[in-house]
Amino acid sequence: MNFEQIFNASPKVQASAPGRVNLLGEHTDYNDGFVLPTAISQQTTVSMVPSPNDRHHFYSVELEEQVDIRLTDPTPKGFSSYVYGCLKVLAQAGYTVPPLNIFVTSSVPIGSGLSSSAALEVATLRSLRSLLDLDLDDVRIAQLGQQAEIQYAGVACGIMDQMASSLADLQHMLFLDTRSLDRQLLPFPTNAEMIVMDSGVPRTLATSGYNQRRAECEEAAQQLGVKALRDITDLQAIVHLSDPLRQRSRHVITENDRVLRARSANLSAIEFGELMNASHASLRDDYEVSVPALDSLVNLLQSTPNVFGARLTGAGFGGACVALVAAGKGDAIAHEVLARYQATGHTGQIFVPS
Ligand code: ADP
Ligand code: MG
Repeated sequence: MNFEQIFNASPKVQASAPGRVNLLGEHTDYNDGFVLPTAISQQTTVSMVPSPNDRHHFYSVELEEQVDIRLTDPTPKGFSSYVYGCLKVLAQAGYTVPPLNIFVTSSVPIGSGLSSSAALEVATLRSLRSLLDLDLDDVRIAQLGQQAEIQYAGVACGIMDQMASSLADLQHMLFLDTRSLDRQLLPFPTNAEMIVMDSGVPRTLATSGYNQRRAECEEAAQQLGVKALRDITDLQAIVHLSDPLRQRSRHVITENDRVLRARSANLSAIEFGELMNASHASLRDDYEVSVPALDSLVNLLQSTPNVFGARLTGAGFGGACVALVAAGKGDAIAHEVLARYQATGHTGQIFVPS
């Protein structure tokens, strides 16, 4: 289905935004910490034209779903809540949003941890910026997208996904301080490229596990007398906490340190890979968000020649893994590892290289 077939009109504007993968800095964003995502080549494209009537009409190619709605209607459920949310946050910010026909299509895997939700928000807001000639910079777009997701899609997300979709590119890693929004585009380690693979394990426990970890971090920060775990850098400070709060804090402290080390030194691919391996061990042992299938996929990657490092990426409890491998070898390594992974009874798939 294309725009004309759905809306019987041509789009007036069109904008795209990429999915993202996080290379380092996992479960740090809600602790006011540091993250290091990059954009992926898969992207979401949103086209629009003013609606011929007093309703908004949203269509998603991937879901084959159309929703007709007014902004005065209650918040809808499902995909339209993200688009409706973008329109509502703009209206709340004082912009006038006329009824629109909005067409969504995407190559970002949905619900796999590559942030199709942020890509949808950022592409929608970019398209609105262009149509309505809005004075919004890329950081503001990210912030509005995050607010749309929190307030209207009901997801208590941090700012990483939207900042990555709005500001990262394929050639760089985006260092982001999630407290100050201080950021920097860093070059990839030389002679290296990235693999992203799905474990095939659905993230069924992800929401409850995520909320529990968030609560544990808040509790640890409170016991330590700081605003967020980001404010602790010395492991000595947490020796009096009892487990699991001590383990959770240790992950956040060491993970923040790994991101800062990756930023400060121009690390070789080998050094960067070691940080990724250490990140996975910390997520598995201290943060306890890995599952056996993710561990086995990460182990397969780590034990393959020309792989510098690998870790689970995203919230965990299933979902994807990211690896840094020798330049030019990504495709062959990903296929070899996928075959070995599938031979042990798993499904799984390759997201990057695409
Ligand atoms: P992720 O962001 O990791 O892909 P989320 O659960 O955060 O997973 O977001 C997925 C949701 O975003 C989908 O369930 C859907 O509501 C919305 N979404 C993302 N991309 C699209 C799309 N192309 N068409 C319709 N809805 C989409
Ligand atoms: Mg998301």
